[in-house]
Amino acid sequence: TTTVAVFTRDLRVHDNPMLAAAVLGADEVVPLFVRDARITGSGFAAGRKKFLNESLTDLDTSLRDLGGRLVVREGDAVKEIYEVAREVRAARVHIAGDVSAFATAREKALRDALPCEFVVHDDVHTVVPPGALTPTGSDHFSVFSPYHRRWADARWRAEAPKPSRITLPKIRVGAVLSAKGNGFPGGETAARTRMTSWLRSSAESYASDHDALAADRTSRLSPYLHLGCVSALEVARRGEKSAEFVRQLAWRDFHHQVLAARPAAATSDYRPRGDRWLDDEDALSAWQAGETGIPIVDAGMRQLLAEGWMHNRARLIVGSFLTKTLYVDWRSGAAHFFRHLLDGDIANNCMNWQWVAGTGTDTRPNRVLNPLRQAERFDPEGEYVRRYVPELSAVDGKRVHRPWDLRAGERAGYPMPIVDLAEGRARFLAARG
Ligand code: FAD
Repeated sequence: TTTVAVFTRDLRVHDNPMLAAAVLGADEVVPLFVRDARITGSGFAAGRKKFLNESLTDLDTSLRDLGGRLVVREGDAVKEIYEVAREVRAARVHIAGDVSAFATAREKALRDALPCEFVVHDDVHTVVPPGALTPTGSDHFSVFSPYHRRWADARWRAEAPKPSRITLPKIRVGAVLSAKGNGFPGGETAARTRMTSWLRSSAESYASDHDALAADRTSRLSPYLHLGCVSALEVARRGEKSAEFVRQLAWRDFHHQVLAARPAAATSDYRPRGDRWLDDEDALSAWQAGETGIPIVDAGMRQLLAEGWMHNRARLIVGSFLTKTLYVDWRSGAAHFFRHLLDGDIANNCMNWQWVAGTGTDTRPNRVLNPLRQAERFDPEGEYVRRYVPELSAVDGKRVHRPWDLRAGERAGYPMPIVDLAEGRARFLAARG
């Protein structure tokens, strides 16, 4: 028999239950990736495209080592998968289940269209499949702590074996676009190297270090987890030395199970608070460009533009600043993040934005982070700010967090704040009643 293994955001050969099932008992396998412009094209910053292309190139190399190739098609995912399945007279098509509206629509269309058996694997992207754990009386957990307790006690699936050989039927292969550049190197090989070295060197100190902005000691595995270059389950198993680190992977699963149960939460408030967000284009563009005049906010936003990644503590600070201090809609923030973040995915991005905006699962929805206090706590020497805001690189120590107190010459053209922090906070609290 011949099967088709459709890769989506599970670009790996280790611990990939979708691939393992496609290979099991099949004579020939077509490992397929469809470049559908709706998910791989427009609207993405160049860094995201480069990261994807590198990940595909790396996957192709691994598949060649096993005797196969990555078959690439361009166009509408459903149509292309259908054509390939028909061409090779596939007995089965395998794909990973996913929670975004795009993925669920694709899955439904494939189920209706395919002329063969269609197998959806819900255990590929997360440690525990979305929907596998439910509290009594509801279809999903809306509070993290009880979810986490159940998640940690759950019996996780066994790791899927890496295929030992893949035999391709006769088929046109198509081009894997390659792209090399700076920054995060995409792909499973880089992901596994990063995972192994970070777990060895830094996992043990994660609980005490993970909020320190300048030290930058978190795993930076998120872009790899997003495209599935490494399996979340494998990372969670191997991360056992740090419960705090493994807990972050539970957050990832938590957001996935919320979105799976409430798909509308990608675009509308999970818990509406009656917000009438301000339509302030100037404030939004200053925030996007990292020109708000609040150094800790601008450092985070500039890190995003420069690296396609931002430290979690900075994401919390810039998110609270946009949605609460500036009172701008979380969807505008999420859209900007999604365009630039290498790890940008619907579940984590939207549900974290809703959490920060207080329209999601935060049990203290009206708290407003004070960026100055956050800066003094998590960047006490100002190093993080100096790294990303060159205008202020000559200002020593924590004075860098309050440039309005500096002489004009020392500010070197750095802008004055676009908002009074106390007024912004008061406006938000009044709006929330
Ligand atoms: P580590 O601290 O090393 O954590 C390990 C892994 O756990 C991460 O790679 C990630 O997969 C997961 N994780 C950690 N924190 C969270 C969290 N709060 N929610 C979900 N998963 C988490 N993460 C994304 O992967 N994609 C996004 O689009 C995204 N958008 C965000 C938007 C906002 C406003 C905020 C506040 C957070 C967002 N996060 C997102 C969560 C978090 O900031 C990143 O996952 C983390 O900074 C990635 O760095 P790391 O790999 O070094 O994390």
